[in-house]
Amino acid sequence: MKMNIRSMPVNNRTLGRPRGIKRIVLHHTAGVFTAQAVANLHNRMRVSYHYSVGNDGVVARHVAENNQAWHAAGHNVDSIGVALSNSSAGGQWLVSQRSVDLAVELLRDIARRNNLLPLRVGVNFFGHRDLSATACPGSHLHGRMREIADRVNASAATTPAAPAASRYRLRAILRQGSKGNDVRELQRRLNTLRHAGANGRPLTVDGNFGANTAHAVRVFQRANNLHADGVVGQNTARALGWNWQP
Ligand SMILES: [Zn+2]
Repeated sequence: MKMNIRSMPVNNRTLGRPRGIKRIVLHHTAGVFTAQAVANLHNRMRVSYHYSVGNDGVVARHVAENNQAWHAAGHNVDSIGVALSNSSAGGQWLVSQRSVDLAVELLRDIARRNNLLPLRVGVNFFGHRDLSATACPGSHLHGRMREIADRVNASAATTPAAPAASRYRLRAILRQGSKGNDVRELQRRLNTLRHAGANGRPLTVDGNFGANTAHAVRVFQRANNLHADGVVGQNTARALGWNWQP
């Protein structure tokens, strides 16, 4: 079952991830908010979370994972910020069980996409107060972080990753001179796998299969013990994690 995440983008962000994504930081909203109210709050202040779980049961994405949100000063460069609305304000800053359950699902998806499994408190999973002088995420939620990590790790082990049917499908051979969306997808994939062009730089995702893309394909093929001809057919497509369906 795929989690329903609503897109509620905000402009408070720094583009790019020069050091990759290495951890998740948990916050509370210090108040009872819907996800939309969190987005509105962002737009009034110089802050942002990547995701929020509203007290209305809505999970929202405010900042794309490949950009930096402004959620934990000094720690934004390599982290993903997730905030849960409180169910009541003050005291232990309680969070509803439904929000915790939604957060487990959300964190599993994030951790899986970013190779952060298993999630470990103090290693790649932090409360905001572990990093900065703040009460955030409140004593209630902070005290449940290990339980949350345990649930994420247990469910990640039993919940299958995206099925093969949802993988990218390549229907025709790609080679130097090819153009279009398949080529853009190839360039993105090679960039994710960190295979640079002949110029030593990440590929420009322009949908034009030129000399740099061909170079990156050959490097990928050599790394995967494939015939390094720079042509993407059945074997190379499968090694890229794609389905080959001509
Ligand atoms: Zn915080």
